[in-house]
Amino acid sequence: MPAGEKPPAGPLEAPVEVAPALPLLDGEPARLAIEEVPGIGRLRARALRKLGLATAADLLARLPRRFIDRSRIVPIAEAPIGEEVTLVGTVRTASRPPPPVRRGRRSPPHSVEVEDGSGRLRCVWFQGARYHTFEAGDVIALSGRVEIYRGRRQVSHPEYEHLSDAETVRAGLLHTGTVVPLYGSSAEMKERGLGSRGFRRLMRDALTRSLSSVGTQLPGGGEARQGLMGLGQALQDAHFPADLGAAERARRRLAFEELFLLQRELERRRRQLAGRPGRAIPASRELVPRLLASIPFEPTAAQLRVIDEIGADMARPRPMRRLLHGDVGSGKTLVALCAALAAVESGCQTALMAPTEILAEQHFHTLRRLASPAGVEGIVLLKGGQRAVVRRELLTGIASGAVRIAVGTHALIEEGVCFARLGLAVVDEQHRFGVAQRTRLSAKGEGIDLLIMTATPIPRSLAMTLYGDLAVSVIDEMPPGRQAVRTVRRDPSHRERIHAFLVDQVAEGRQAYVVYPVIEESERSDLNSARAGFEELARGPLKELRLELLHGRLSADDKTGIMSRFAEGEIDVLVATTVIEVGVDVPNAAVMVVEHAERFGLAQLHQLRGRVGRGASAAYCILVDHASGEDDAGARARLHSLCETMDGFELARKDLELRGPGEVMGTRQAGMPELRVAHLLRDEDLLEPARAEARIAIDEEGEGGEECP
Ligand code: ADP
Ligand code: MG
Repeated sequence: MPAGEKPPAGPLEAPVEVAPALPLLDGEPARLAIEEVPGIGRLRARALRKLGLATAADLLARLPRRFIDRSRIVPIAEAPIGEEVTLVGTVRTASRPPPPVRRGRRSPPHSVEVEDGSGRLRCVWFQGARYHTFEAGDVIALSGRVEIYRGRRQVSHPEYEHLSDAETVRAGLLHTGTVVPLYGSSAEMKERGLGSRGFRRLMRDALTRSLSSVGTQLPGGGEARQGLMGLGQALQDAHFPADLGAAERARRRLAFEELFLLQRELERRRRQLAGRPGRAIPASRELVPRLLASIPFEPTAAQLRVIDEIGADMARPRPMRRLLHGDVGSGKTLVALCAALAAVESGCQTALMAPTEILAEQHFHTLRRLASPAGVEGIVLLKGGQRAVVRRELLTGIASGAVRIAVGTHALIEEGVCFARLGLAVVDEQHRFGVAQRTRLSAKGEGIDLLIMTATPIPRSLAMTLYGDLAVSVIDEMPPGRQAVRTVRRDPSHRERIHAFLVDQVAEGRQAYVVYPVIEESERSDLNSARAGFEELARGPLKELRLELLHGRLSADDKTGIMSRFAEGEIDVLVATTVIEVGVDVPNAAVMVVEHAERFGLAQLHQLRGRVGRGASAAYCILVDHASGEDDAGARARLHSLCETMDGFELARKDLELRGPGEVMGTRQAGMPELRVAHLLRDEDLLEPARAEARIAIDEEGEGGEECP
């Protein structure tokens, strides 16, 4: 594709495009630049922009991190010691901050006496004294934890608010005496007067000014249909609620709006695509039945079902956009091959793209092995680093149509690769690809069918937000005879026993992987590198075994050579980096040892574990946790969940809880839209109704003859 030319919009890039632009609020006033919001000068605007707040809507969407309930005001004398309370009192003597001290010296604490008729109390500040000045007679409301210091009541660093008269106590309490929102703030914001207090004031001003112009984007009657409060009310309550319940109800209303806007965008794209012409590739009558009859195993019911689903979709005269989802080891390759054969049978070509050379190579061999009994020829492998003559020959074959199935890495989407009649593009392990790459592949043909495959288990809620515009097929069944992979977490002190176990397993005819997070020891890192690990094992504990080291910096030929020798059983233990993370399929491998497991994400570990347990024999995954002495609760929780369950969906949910949606099981690359308010677990029940409203909205758009942007 010529530089500068925009690839045709496809659904694959959709999530990412939605991501940064996704507004919680839409419409004119919400898009007001942050600089234009009254009360925000240039410097404040700059500080806010650094936090990603570029518009009025961004500002309003920045909900409080948490609230403190200060709605109950108690007399000083009755304030329970050690508890957070709110008090209202009068300042007894004027208090000016102490004079500045020389650099590096600590300034003395600064304090003020407050009384309320029932008793007295000292407020003390150890830092930032200069910000707290009082005149005698000032009435302030303050919140904090009351302590006894040298026999007197005292509060350190209270939150407080100057009250002008008794009326304020009831009416406009902003910082205390009510449910008070707490916003996180950066050092720079504090400098610009936007610490917690300043930010609250700014927020209240912004709300007061913009509430009248904020309107929902839901279709007419939507709020009533869904029993939702007004958006303005929700914004008000989300920031300055009467109580905590009101805050949560308001947040849910905003979450609904946000999910609606997201679903509306996805629905719009889905319909645009559905309107595009594509090629009808009829279901295979010959090749697929022949293939299924010739493979050495019975397809599972789930495989057969998705093969049918995909076939039916390809037969429609529209471009297919389908996500094939199946946990690690569920047998997606066979399904992809069936789709490819349907294309071949109707005279079309197929491109199958994999994220690593090792995987592309493996697919190439698997496809050839499975397809040749069915009489299918013309399967080639295209990858980087091939000799020029070889490459030229491959490209000629692809361009002439002699090549029926081109398997490859990113090499497939390079410029010189032109297909004669591409009918189907398959992307394996799609989460490993950048959005642009996937788009480039689907741009290799007109209106082609697209099948993207993933083992990244996504909870339904996430799938709906990520892939709301794709049809989804799920393989929810494992081939028979698979055993659970026994997963354990071990301290490095267990390594001797682990090595002995490897020796035993090899003696029983099994093979194993030992995976390290990095290739070479670097000065900065104390990680045992794959190379150092390999040398240590080869010298000592595993010296009787056939060991090989595999990492990404080896030449393509070396990698291929090692992988095929491992597949042939000529190597007992493969010491590797994460080059083997996805896709690799050697059924005789029964043990996966992961060194520095604490450094890996849940998705990676799940994938790595998926390399074993592919045959019928017992399989083991040993997670060596080098951080076990340290205080790394996150890592501990990850490893624990992994030991608890084999179920990818379950793990994805755990991940969602542990890390939040942006990080879930490798979805960051897949372009998870950034949700500001909605929480995919807590607000899962809102997705369906939000989508229903999105459909209505798009229906109405269509009727109004409005152009899609
Ligand atoms: P993934 O879904 O992780 O890509 P693969 O397609 O690599 O899984 O399949 C995993 C292994 O299971 C392969 O060795 C494959 O040959 C085998 N396999 C696939 N389907 C079946 C089946 N129905 N019965 C038995 N083995 C199967
Ligand atoms: Mg696979």
